[in-house]
Amino acid sequence: MIIVRAAESAEEALADRTMRCPHHGCGDTLQRWGHGRRRRVRGLGTEPIDVQPRRVRCRGCGATQVLLPAALQPRRADSTEVVGTALASKAKGLGYRRIAATLGRSASTVRRWLRRARDRAHLNRLWQRGAQELIRLNADAFNAIAGTGNLLLDCLTMLAAAAWWARRRLGIAEPVWTLIGLYTGGRLLAPPA
Ligand SMILES: [Zn+2]
Repeated sequence: MIIVRAAESAEEALADRTMRCPHHGCGDTLQRWGHGRRRRVRGLGTEPIDVQPRRVRCRGCGATQVLLPAALQPRRADSTEVVGTALASKAKGLGYRRIAATLGRSASTVRRWLRRARDRAHLNRLWQRGAQELIRLNADAFNAIAGTGNLLLDCLTMLAAAAWWARRRLGIAEPVWTLIGLYTGGRLLAPPA
């Protein structure tokens, strides 16, 4: 699976033959190869939408991949924005029941997400990804951010600052949560142990 900023920009990159195979030592160009499984995804307060991610194949090694837009999370029926909003609410101190009620999701679903966002190694990786992007975009902004001791809050702040500066400096139109999904490679939540 390859996380892409948006389906449209991915289609352009495929047409221009500028999207490369991620396999180590290959790096040949990718071509369209049908679509992946159709899936139903819910955003914040909206009707579910059906999406069918593009499948691609490498012209060199023949490996196939699914291109997942960063607004979506792998194997989850809720958008990056929904999962991210739950994490941001947790960082502010809200409990899973209240977050679930606000988002209109089941308490067990939200509790599962939050459990996948408390491992320190995972949170440190998220922080690092945000810091790398932000330093590249605006090192002064990075230096101005002080840690709070709340690691979840700190990593979401770092990622959000990077996304904010990417929109401002690079003229990228994608929403902040989509860019955070891109920076974290679709792994806002830690994979199951
Ligand atoms: Zn390849």
